[in-house]
Amino acid sequence: MTADELAEIDQAASPALSMLSRWANKKMQCAHCKRCTLRCEVLKEPGLDVGTVQEAYDRVMSLPADERPAAVAELMQSNYDMYHALRRCCFCGYCTADCAVHMLAPDRMRDWRELFLSPIQI
Ligand code: SF4
Ligand code: SF4
Repeated sequence: MTADELAEIDQAASPALSMLSRWANKKMQCAHCKRCTLRCEVLKEPGLDVGTVQEAYDRVMSLPADERPAAVAELMQSNYDMYHALRRCCFCGYCTADCAVHMLAPDRMRDWRELFLSPIQI
């Protein structure tokens, strides 16, 4: 769940519901166990895991829209290994199949590819 979604649940003014949603959210977060890394040549080479891919995406999307193109350009230049991996992913989903919290790699990889292809229109 996103921070906005958690805030919406908090507005329901139910302490039990808030506590449950935060517990569930924590359970659904990447533990950086690297099982996905071992499953995929694309991830293995730079030692990347899908949670790190997700966190980098969340960082870019948390910026105001007009600052995102510069953040994407910065990643392309400063973290070429990650950029290369994000470009090589074939959306097969093998990594997600091995992930205990079902991080949706193909969805996130597609989102990154859209950012790379149209940074000006973001
Ligand atoms: S397998 Fe899942 S929990 Fe483990 S590092 Fe990959 S994305 Fe994170
Ligand atoms: S979707 Fe396939 S190619 Fe992409 S990171 Fe996962 S296992 Fe690797």
